[in-house]
Amino acid sequence: MCGIIARIGGDDDGAVDELLTGLENLEYRGYDSAGLAIKNGGGPEVFKREGKISRLKDVLADETPDGGLGIGHTRWSTHGPPTDANAHPHTDCTGDVAVVHNGIVENYDELKAELRADGHEFESDTDTEVIPHLVEEELAEGADPETAFRRTIERLSGSYAVAMITDREHVVYATRRGSPLVLGVDGGDYFLASDVPAFLDFTDDVVYLDDGDVVVVEPDDYRITTPDGEAVDRTVRTVEWDPEDAGKGGYDHYMLKEIHEQPAALRQTLRGRADPATGDIRLEDFPAGSFADVDRVQFVACGTSYHAGLVGAQFLSDGGVPARTFLASEYATAQPPVDERTLVVGVTQSGETADTLSALRRANASGAATLAVTNVVGSTAARECDDALFIRAGPEIGVAATKTFSSQVVSLALLGERVARDVTGGRSEDARERLEALSELPGHVQQILDYTSARRVAEKYRDAEAYFFIGRGAVRPVALEGALKFKEISYEHAEGFAAGELKHGPLALVTPETPVFAVFTGRNDEKTLGNVKEAQARGAPVVAVASREQEAVAQYADEVLTIPDTHPDVAGVLANVQLQLLSYHAADLLDRAIDKPRNLAKSVTVE
Ligand code: GLU
Repeated sequence: MCGIIARIGGDDDGAVDELLTGLENLEYRGYDSAGLAIKNGGGPEVFKREGKISRLKDVLADETPDGGLGIGHTRWSTHGPPTDANAHPHTDCTGDVAVVHNGIVENYDELKAELRADGHEFESDTDTEVIPHLVEEELAEGADPETAFRRTIERLSGSYAVAMITDREHVVYATRRGSPLVLGVDGGDYFLASDVPAFLDFTDDVVYLDDGDVVVVEPDDYRITTPDGEAVDRTVRTVEWDPEDAGKGGYDHYMLKEIHEQPAALRQTLRGRADPATGDIRLEDFPAGSFADVDRVQFVACGTSYHAGLVGAQFLSDGGVPARTFLASEYATAQPPVDERTLVVGVTQSGETADTLSALRRANASGAATLAVTNVVGSTAARECDDALFIRAGPEIGVAATKTFSSQVVSLALLGERVARDVTGGRSEDARERLEALSELPGHVQQILDYTSARRVAEKYRDAEAYFFIGRGAVRPVALEGALKFKEISYEHAEGFAAGELKHGPLALVTPETPVFAVFTGRNDEKTLGNVKEAQARGAPVVAVASREQEAVAQYADEVLTIPDTHPDVAGVLANVQLQLLSYHAADLLDRAIDKPRNLAKSVTVE
């Protein structure tokens, strides 16, 4: 996820300042690097720097170019580390075509090979750079810029929002497929951006574009067409957002916005990696056989990532590979056996969690292979580990992790299957069904977001004394995560337990004032139902998180937070979304500082 912006005006001097304002408003989408390309008389002039927008501003302060038309980008790296060379805009060999891109060009490897064979030289590690070179090819063969742009887009697979300028015309070409892009209308001037807040300082008239739309914008005129060139009509709407709140996209809190971003985040996590039709898994840096030498896997992580790690270990154990999850802060004292056939996987959203880094360093010193599963390309964990797998969830601002947990679990499901196949030489029995369920997750999460009754349930139990969460097997970690989320943002007492453990101690705390949230998956439900009855016998209200198929559950529960029916291994991600919403609404009803809960920080960089 990154931010793209374009400003289309006449030959005045305003573009740079407005592009910079736009980029600052988009910085929440990524801040690995920033750059812009301005049409200043002739061809595009490019300025770009690794790091925050302030660094780009320093460069431009010395040499602000004139010009009324340009494109800009703030990057959240997916392909290649944050460097000046990998910063957007990217250009072709001649420097006459400049492009900004949000998303992933899945077939960039083959396109790059083909372009290289034709003599093109590349300056970055990004997938994006193939785009200007493809346009260059088309232009060289005599196509006009619009045709060159359309033909290039046709050749890309994956997700993208792209904006392009060339030396030939005072025009911006743009399109979207799977990544956001909106058009801002400011009289005869225009903006294109990943998100409305980018240009809200200048206009609140917006055209929402659809996937496949190709937009051609010049001063005083714009055209929107289908990929085949047929004109389409899109309404101009006026948005009523306060620029201050706009970064939250109309939501009251970043946390709620990020909960709602999960379908898109999960699509991005899965993109190009899993094919349910064939059962294939393609993890970019890990071709089949990469993990053939692994004897055992250890996960090290903290907080929410630890819960994802617990699910990850379960996937591996189910696939026949010995796996364990450690709290990173306990790893040094636990001193588990480690050798060069041990794979130690650090799960850390930021890639900067000090406890996890320290555990990974210890593992590395003991000769283990290390792998970072993280959201941040270029983070310390990604750099220090032997390898990295990126969860591609996009920036998360709310301190309470939400979309990154879902993307971590899905990444670990794919990784688990890849490792298990390499180690055991076979596929887990129901690999296809599981991949099918993973690929359905974005749609299933959307159903929950559309129909949840979490707020009503939160309201019903808002005066409770304590909140307990139980789950068995694949969803025990979800019970733990449900309780962690609840306590961290509501400040209410919440605990999570393995369902079967309730009767071994915690039951002493269960009263009519302590609702019990029980997570069901469709596997071993009758046992969890037994635990529910134990709680009910003590007068506790029970809220089940379960699918409609689990009819027996609905019969006993006081409330049901419904999830779509799916594979038992994947149900936890869905149940967790309901519990995220429950925690959010409970905290909101109590008027807590949801995005910045007291005493907590987003990235914990101390041990
Ligand atoms: N894939 C592109 C890159 O790594 C764009 C990433 C993005 O959307 O942030 O530069």
